[in-house]
Amino acid sequence: MNKKQKKVLRRIVLSVLLLGLIYALFTLHVLPENRWLELGLYLIPYLVIGYDILLKAAKGLRNAQPFDENFLMAVATVGAIALGEYLEGAAVMLFYQIGELFQSYAVGKSRRSISALMDIRPDTANVAREDGTLEQVDPDEVPVGTVIWVQPGEKIPIDGVVVEGQSTLDTAALTGESVPRDVWEGEEVVSGCVNLNGLLKVRTTREFGESTASKILDLVENASSKKSRQENFISRFARVYTPVVCLGALLLALLPPLANLLLGRGSDWSTWIYRALTFLVISCPCALVISIPLSFFAGIGGASGAGVLVKGSKYMETLSRVRLLAFDKTGTMTQGVFEVQGVHHSAMEERELLELATLAESYSTHPISRSLQRAWGGVPDKSRVGELREIPGQGVVAQVDGKSVAVGNDKLMAALGVEAIACRSAGTVVHVAVDGAYAGHILITDMLKPTAREAVAALKSAGVERAVMLTGDSRSAAEETARALGGVEYFAGLLPADKVAKVEELLARKPKGAALAFVGDGINDAPVLSRADLGIAMGALGSDAAIEAADVVLMDDNPLKVAKAIRIAKKCLRIVYENIVFAIGVKLLCLLLGALGLANMWAAIFADVGVMVIAVLNAIRALRVKNL
Ligand code: ADP
Ligand code: MG
Repeated sequence: MNKKQKKVLRRIVLSVLLLGLIYALFTLHVLPENRWLELGLYLIPYLVIGYDILLKAAKGLRNAQPFDENFLMAVATVGAIALGEYLEGAAVMLFYQIGELFQSYAVGKSRRSISALMDIRPDTANVAREDGTLEQVDPDEVPVGTVIWVQPGEKIPIDGVVVEGQSTLDTAALTGESVPRDVWEGEEVVSGCVNLNGLLKVRTTREFGESTASKILDLVENASSKKSRQENFISRFARVYTPVVCLGALLLALLPPLANLLLGRGSDWSTWIYRALTFLVISCPCALVISIPLSFFAGIGGASGAGVLVKGSKYMETLSRVRLLAFDKTGTMTQGVFEVQGVHHSAMEERELLELATLAESYSTHPISRSLQRAWGGVPDKSRVGELREIPGQGVVAQVDGKSVAVGNDKLMAALGVEAIACRSAGTVVHVAVDGAYAGHILITDMLKPTAREAVAALKSAGVERAVMLTGDSRSAAEETARALGGVEYFAGLLPADKVAKVEELLARKPKGAALAFVGDGINDAPVLSRADLGIAMGALGSDAAIEAADVVLMDDNPLKVAKAIRIAKKCLRIVYENIVFAIGVKLLCLLLGALGLANMWAAIFADVGVMVIAVLNAIRALRVKNL
């Protein structure tokens, strides 16, 4: 429990004791029966427990947004007290606060379990001093460009580049799957990974707060706070519900007595005002207010345990409605690890062409770049590379040893006015031109991810009616992948902007109530990730652009997780609706009984607490996502 919660708990205990004492003193006739004495004494526990609610209600009034649950509670309890029901007034406030505490405790607990789940927050960084000794410092205080030492067994605290040493990293805390990764001098490393064996000296390239580990934690922690600002369920509901209920209460207080007056009977104001106030208490959407955000939170927590980060309840809701899915090919359905099949039409030695291409690509993060580097074998000497330009969806043009080297697809060659020789074999063709003259092409092929076909099939059963592949690769490469995936629709040869246009086309024709999601690896597709109703970034480790642009981040690169994420969201929303129907159903029944005078405030409170407990227990089911 945090400080704030402890304070509320102390107030609850204090007011329970006070209420009990005062009640006893009056029922045992220790104190004389006197309205004013009773009022004065009961006001003490009432204010102890309710002062903040009253203040919030007043604030709401001042900001001209009075219709929230604080207002309901304030009116109902002040009304009860005005009618002489002091104990009831104080008790209603007390139960309300107990409910609030229960809620904030449950939320805090699931948040902590999520953070523990993602045990990636490093506590210290080792900085070498002049005399060679190590100093442990707060990672927050390490400036960019500092060399830090990461010993075996330690977490990398800050993103950076290895300047000395070799090791293997464990990325399990970030991806949920433990695939060791070898790193050596010159490699970029991200915070949150655990250094398994060698000593690494890392020059930091970011501040702690900007590093991957901090960003991911922020994202998870803000998922719940974001919700309150967004137009989520409850506030949308409360905006209609609360005024309607208040109006209902007002009519209940006014109409029957007025009708009685007109009919010449006794008006009986206090009975009807009491019923109206009971009506207000009953109507307080406690169970909803508590269980709906908790359902979302539990869903988000469960999902992050499965390596699916959902950035807020809003996105959870959208995710549950996904019926159209567009996805990227390279790195999403395929491994993005190309094998070089051959070098064609080149006057140069095979290795020479490969070396040129690798050098030109040495600053690119595109999977093609990494694959060329692996095929060439070794780390390119970046000092041979001068000015360069990467054109998304086309390739790169770089100065290598003073020559202008262009590496990319047909589009790039056409843009440079270089006549390229087409390749007849299936695969992705990487053309190379040197100083404007064609120098041959490298044929590379990518492999489908082992679960890709299954993943497309799983989408269907998760309710996705149409899945479309959008790729920047050539038609032939796209066609082959589409066939291997079991025959999906595809559009090939798209630049990042064309992908946005295609998604807009799909958006314009989607059925009502359905959502369109785009799944990509974040390379060349940040614009389309943010344009779709929902952007899902896959295997986004280390790709900030993707983590930022996406609404849902899949920590590992298994495409099966897309369908799983949708199923998690569906379960979460099903629970949300169950709770809404259940809580509102019981509410309506109680409201009816209250209006008829068959339920008093006590019955109302107990019904409310009962509904709340059941709804909260139901909400917690959303945490369990293992077998989905
Ligand atoms: P996808 O939509 O399949 O993920 P991209 O948009 O990343 O593909 O790239 C589309 C095409 O652009 C690639 O198939 C490749 O031909 C070319 N391309 C993009 N970046 C590079 C690069 N760095 N080097 C060579 N070719 C590239
Ligand atoms: Mg891509």
